[in-house]
Amino acid sequence: MDTLSRWLGAPRGLLILFGTVVALPAATLVFLGVRLLQQDRELARQRRAEVLQQSSDRAVRALGDDLAALQRRLSEPSWRPTDAPPGSLYVLMTPGEVRPTPSSALAYYPVVPKLKDPPAAPFGELEAIEFKAQDLPKALEISRRLAGSADPPVQAGALLRQARILRKMGRTAETLPIYGTLATVTGISINELPADLVARRTRCLLLKELARPDELRQEAAVLDADLGPGLWPLDQVSYEYISAQLDEWLGPARRPDANAKALAAAVDWLYRQWTRVPVGELGPNGARSLTTDGTAVTVVWGSAGERLAAFAGVREYFEKEWVEKARKAASPADVSLLAASDPGAPRAPVGADTLVVRRSAADTGLPWTVVTTLRSDVNAARFEGRRRMLLTGLAAVLVLVAAGSYFVVRSRNREVALTRLQSDFMAAVSHEFRTPLTALQQFNVLLDEADDLTPEKRRTYYQAQGRATERLSRLVESLLDFGRMEAGRRPYTLQRVDADALVRDVVHEFQQEIQSHGFDLRCSVEPGKYPVDADPEALARALWNLLDNAVKYSAERREIDVSVGQTDGEVSISVRDRGIGIAAGDQKRIFQKFVRLVAATSRGIKGSGIGLAMVQHIVAAHGGAVRVASVEREGSTFTIVLPVGRIQESGVRNQGAAKAPVPESRIPNPDS
Ligand code: ADP
Repeated sequence: MDTLSRWLGAPRGLLILFGTVVALPAATLVFLGVRLLQQDRELARQRRAEVLQQSSDRAVRALGDDLAALQRRLSEPSWRPTDAPPGSLYVLMTPGEVRPTPSSALAYYPVVPKLKDPPAAPFGELEAIEFKAQDLPKALEISRRLAGSADPPVQAGALLRQARILRKMGRTAETLPIYGTLATVTGISINELPADLVARRTRCLLLKELARPDELRQEAAVLDADLGPGLWPLDQVSYEYISAQLDEWLGPARRPDANAKALAAAVDWLYRQWTRVPVGELGPNGARSLTTDGTAVTVVWGSAGERLAAFAGVREYFEKEWVEKARKAASPADVSLLAASDPGAPRAPVGADTLVVRRSAADTGLPWTVVTTLRSDVNAARFEGRRRMLLTGLAAVLVLVAAGSYFVVRSRNREVALTRLQSDFMAAVSHEFRTPLTALQQFNVLLDEADDLTPEKRRTYYQAQGRATERLSRLVESLLDFGRMEAGRRPYTLQRVDADALVRDVVHEFQQEIQSHGFDLRCSVEPGKYPVDADPEALARALWNLLDNAVKYSAERREIDVSVGQTDGEVSISVRDRGIGIAAGDQKRIFQKFVRLVAATSRGIKGSGIGLAMVQHIVAAHGGAVRVASVEREGSTFTIVLPVGRIQESGVRNQGAAKAPVPESRIPNPDS
């Protein structure tokens, strides 16, 4: 608070000067620093955006190269499908035929290959007996015989009829092995479906009817396993139909291969597009992403003459085989692919400061949207380092400015305070000089002009002139002495002195000086000896100054006690008054030269502010200390503490200052 008010107390001119010379450049520096930081950040962001753009270009180029190479291979007339990695398949299409590789891959056949139907001719007799004569046992026997045929179509037709007759006879359970045999016959169709598939499906239906759940589950599971790898050439409708039945039999445990279904759907889509009229709408080669039940598949094709070769892969395949390569090319950016039908978000989480570039399929000719991302921490460490350096620099500048300002203001305040103290001192000293000088002048005029003065009066005037002259010379002496002390040129000649005698002499002398002021000046010395090593003249001056102050700063109670005592190898000389007292906060600084308290100046008490500084100087030169104890409006006690003398007593015992030198008196003199 005190510092603040001192700050505010500084003259406006200085503040303005300071503001222009120091604060303004500092503020400008801070402003420029912050701007530089912002620009740096913006520049870093632009650089990152450029890096990302280039990364994105490289990623698109890498993906495009891979795609073009695949399309070139697929367009070569000599191309033959090879086994494709998991999650992908090759397919060769000709009008009316779709051949996937691996052959076990599920593929919907838009045109189901024609299988042989069982002939009707060999079963004429059997059907006449069965339906017309209704002789079921006989019909059964005939069917058994025909089932032994080596011709698969006849065998299949016979087995089917045998099972039908047995069912009519109520012997359902016996039909199971019949269908079991039919399940081994391949290449025959029953109602447009392969006979072995029909037989296995019928066995499952029978097991359900016969309430044999364990066997049903077992057989259905095997059928499901065979249906998945596309053992039979089915169109999508037939596949879905049987798949739905398997769902019913196997319940929630059934987990159809989503990838295989999605790949099959993509191939089916491609075939339909290719064979659609007008032909060629698809283009000779191309690529497309499709999503089936949430599974994204990319299909790439190339045609040569009458055939179309294609490759289809799920997202995981492309992630593993293609995107990894693109990522290497795009480093330090990251790459992910979005199928055209994917919901927009890139798969990598995007932080607030992550830059993203999306290149759409229309833009790149690729079957995906290519998303390239660059995280903020790339290059961030370098930027952070620069930022920290700049901030540290700014902080250092600010600290320097603040510290500099503090010292400038402090020294300026000290200077102002010292100047004020010095001018106060000059005013006080001038006044001290003026008083005896005026007295001298007046007595001179009186002595000169009044001829009728009695000798008595004349003597009194001369005596008064003498006192004024003595006062002037004491004042000059005191000032010169203080100057010498300050300059360290005041020699102290120490000798064994009895403090009690010295004190008594000074008090006696002082008593003479103030006798007309109505003070009760008491001096008490405890019995004993008080030897000190002192310069008697200097010590007397110190004591005189304390007594002088006690008189000046007393109020109504005009009592002063001087005492001499000894404790712990120290001799103490105390002067106690019952005057205005000194606030605790001021008790230290009153020993500084020129310091005068408001309590003194506001009461109009005269003084120069060097008395106590002299006391302290003298006492310190004797290896002692001055202490003050004071309570405002109750009084003060100043104590000079000196070490007990150690100098060997000389033959001549010094009786203190036989004639104590009397320092500058500042007591109002009625005669002056
Ligand atoms: P001066 O008395 O000439 O002003 P000093 O150095 O002797 O100078 O004292 C410094 C200040 O200390 C005085 O102005 C006064 O405010 C305060 N002071 C000194 N002695 C006393 C005292 N006995 N009682 C109250 N205040 C004192």
